[in-house]
Amino acid sequence: MIMELPDSVLRYLGTPRPMLIGGEWVGAESNGWEATVNPADGKVIGEYAIAGKASVDQAVVAARQAFENRDWSKITPAQRAKLLWRVAELIEANAKELAVLETLDGGKLFADTLNGEIPAAAESFRYYAGWCTKMDGRTTQPSVSEKEFHTYIQREPIGVVGHIVPWNGPLVMAAWKLAPALAAGCTCVLKPSEQTPLSTLLMGELFERAGFPPGVVNIVTGDGSTGANLVEHPEVDKISFTGSSATARKLLLAASGNLKKVSLELGGKSPVLVFADADIDRAISGAAEAIFANAGQVCVAGSRLLVERSVFEQVVDGVSRIANSLKLGPGFDSESQMGPLISERHRNYVHALVTSGVREGAEALSGGEQCSGVGYFYKPTVLVNVNQEMSVVREEIFGPVVTAMAFDDPEEGIALANDTPYGLAGSIWTRDLIKAHRMTASIRAGLLWVNCHGIPDMSVPYGGYKQSGWGRENGWDGMAQYTELKSVMTLL
Ligand code: NAD
Repeated sequence: MIMELPDSVLRYLGTPRPMLIGGEWVGAESNGWEATVNPADGKVIGEYAIAGKASVDQAVVAARQAFENRDWSKITPAQRAKLLWRVAELIEANAKELAVLETLDGGKLFADTLNGEIPAAAESFRYYAGWCTKMDGRTTQPSVSEKEFHTYIQREPIGVVGHIVPWNGPLVMAAWKLAPALAAGCTCVLKPSEQTPLSTLLMGELFERAGFPPGVVNIVTGDGSTGANLVEHPEVDKISFTGSSATARKLLLAASGNLKKVSLELGGKSPVLVFADADIDRAISGAAEAIFANAGQVCVAGSRLLVERSVFEQVVDGVSRIANSLKLGPGFDSESQMGPLISERHRNYVHALVTSGVREGAEALSGGEQCSGVGYFYKPTVLVNVNQEMSVVREEIFGPVVTAMAFDDPEEGIALANDTPYGLAGSIWTRDLIKAHRMTASIRAGLLWVNCHGIPDMSVPYGGYKQSGWGRENGWDGMAQYTELKSVMTLL
């Protein structure tokens, strides 16, 4: 059954969506407006403003003024907590509209956005509401001879933060950045992806309704050049970026002007290691979910299936059977089990990697081709006969494509799992807990799951080793990266 769009959303999309700068909703400067498209049918759904250098500058100036303004800098931690809690309530009260926009813009299944992404965004604000009042300092006792000091170390907000997020989880990614930064007392300029700006702009209205002072949260829309203007800006103290490793390299150069702090949440090529002693049925459905959820457009997607040789065929056949059975369709159809890829361009990229693998000898047990008809759908794909040299095994695909390889012993499994420039995530499937913990100790990745995959939680730090990032989101560590440490020594 296909859901009707609510009138409130149709009205919202009826006019081009302006940006939130200094508490005002402002339109596009000379750079104009840009259309955003529904990836399930390729049709235009709305328009957003393209922020040029001047708009980005206005937003940063507004955030700087708000940071220095008494209304924000002297607000008590408990008052900040109340504001964040109120945002969570407003997200829940507007869950349907936010979920519809998220599905329209990004193609996700509506049930997943309504029951997963939107509550997760609200939870981020609630979780960090709790941290506002717990940003403690400490004292220490220096050992300078014959001198006595009163010494304390306190945390302060880092200042004006530029947040840049991707399209695959627009609202949650924005919430994971805004909530800890605001809890720490920072002010923010957020740039959503040019492919999915709509739900974030609606969330901007909720900050106003919650009672945040003008300029504390600013939202500018646009593509990579808007992001680059934000990264280069000398009045931005920190950039928190989630996106591809390729963009991160450019961003680091652009951020070097004022040596602003940078944290990075980047791509992955996460292994799913299945041992013969695992609950094989559970491992098969877990491995399929790890790669086909959100059509594989997930940073921690389990895109490399590594299976102990004695159960290789059983596991790979099981995952292929699931791949062949998935019903692809628009996110608003309650029967759809997998939505489209974000764009035609991205689908071409996914297909190019798959065809290069097949040209080099890989065999597609399922999928391996685009779907015909409207929308940017791609068939869930399982590739065997692959090797570590193939680009389909090495590159992040960000689509519903898993490569499967066999290993003979745990050491070989570890070697294959670690043979990647990425180190974001992975999972181990076994009933032997000692083996599981030996594996988790040896795999170089920031997030490991045992007998499950891809489950985030606000209390669990999220981020990667190696080329998967710098720093962590969520938990106290996610908030600490929006603070500076100040040490004060008073000679007594
Ligand atoms: P992307 O790097 O193309 O774009 C991300 C954001 O950066 C967008 O808002 C874009 O407009 C902006 N941008 C592009 N060029 C820029 C520049 N030169 N300067 C500043 N900003 C610029 O990534 P994407 O295609 O939107 O998202 C997919 C990527 O995100 C994947 O690699 C995925 O693994 C990664 N990701 C990582 C995590 C994580 O937590 N580690 C989570 C989600 C997505």
